[in-house]
Amino acid sequence: MSEFQEKNGVLHVEDISLEKIAETYQTPCYVYSKHAIIRNWQAFQHALPAPHRAFYAVKANSNLAILQVLAEQGAGFDVVSGGEIARVLRAGGKAQDIVFSGVAKSDAEIRYALDVGIGQFNVESAAELERISAIAAELKKTARISLRVNPDVDAKTHPYIATGLEDNKFGIPMAEAIGTYQRAAELPALEVVGADCHIGSQLTETQPFLDALERMLRLVDELAEHGIPLRHIDMGGGLGVTYQDEQPPAVADYIAALLARLQDYPHLSLYLEPGRAIVANAGVLLTRVEYLKSNGFKHFIMVDAGMNDLLRPSLYQAHHDIVNVRASDAPVITGDVVGPVCETGDFLGQQRSLAVAAGDLLAVKSAGAYGFAMSSNYNSRPRPPEVLIAGDQSYLIRARETMDDVWRGETLVPKG
Ligand SMILES: *Cc1c(COP(=O)(O)O)cnc(C)c1O
Repeated sequence: MSEFQEKNGVLHVEDISLEKIAETYQTPCYVYSKHAIIRNWQAFQHALPAPHRAFYAVKANSNLAILQVLAEQGAGFDVVSGGEIARVLRAGGKAQDIVFSGVAKSDAEIRYALDVGIGQFNVESAAELERISAIAAELKKTARISLRVNPDVDAKTHPYIATGLEDNKFGIPMAEAIGTYQRAAELPALEVVGADCHIGSQLTETQPFLDALERMLRLVDELAEHGIPLRHIDMGGGLGVTYQDEQPPAVADYIAALLARLQDYPHLSLYLEPGRAIVANAGVLLTRVEYLKSNGFKHFIMVDAGMNDLLRPSLYQAHHDIVNVRASDAPVITGDVVGPVCETGDFLGQQRSLAVAAGDLLAVKSAGAYGFAMSSNYNSRPRPPEVLIAGDQSYLIRARETMDDVWRGETLVPKG
């Protein structure tokens, strides 16, 4: 994380100190490093020479400027809603570089995707296949499709982010895959191009990906025997990052392992859909300590960011390192870092030891993925601004919300 370094005792993002950023934009505030995002992206791009390809999973961080930076790098995009398609296009991405995943695509979303001409649909059920075929036929278009199958492998991650087990809602069960492909091959207005899977998120080992690949290749072989050749295989996203002491494989090693297994399949391109691995460690949530409080046996460090700003700790018991922006000689406190939201589950970190005093700035690290993207207005809290740093320049890429933003669309009713 070379873009997040201490200089003269103060944590910087690239060439700007987080103290300066807090002064300019106030807290709480998301701060991202443009160079970290580009570096993370290029690790994938370099390891995946054409015809292989990476598609950034937009849901991890969908700010327009972030999408723009990636579009300028020639990224493809993996989206899960019509809204995400609109964002990619608004940011300058190309429709043909979009793959559209998601378990419950609506009529309107499918129409929109076909109208703008996205690259392909990752289809998650037999019923969706019928629907896409009918809409494409009506619009006199051809929909390129890949079926998302469920390889039934254990990603060994948190149950809420494991997606490749038989009892998950995602994908088509392996046992039904051949039949569904055969149906796809007979339906009008469809072109079958690939197969995909996404077994989970924050995986820290390569083996589950290789297990899934093995099952996908068995499917590819069987489909070839049935006269249904595929052009690519999409292994989804899911590569983990270091939040605390995890040691995920290096991007190059993980991709090399997958490509090595694909050597016997020269006609197959490998697609990947990284989200977290591109943006998680490229962002921090900057927050200020409001109060220190002790209830006799437990200490609390109360900050101005809450679970509405960063949900991961509350939702997944996720760990984010939390550091004082300025090295401090205040007494070390061991306690929970908690926000202002009226929920006991509103914490950013538990049992942390920090040298800290009221008024200090803290950086909640690795907050670039599933941070702002999962934020809400719970407790009528305006969402924080997002700032992108490039060298010694800072760009406000999303303004702090005002109360007008928070109640936009709400109306009062006639009196009495
Ligand atoms: C969420 C998701 C991804 C990205 O997952 P990461 O763990 O952030 O890399 C990729 N593909 C699909 C289909 C997803 O749902």
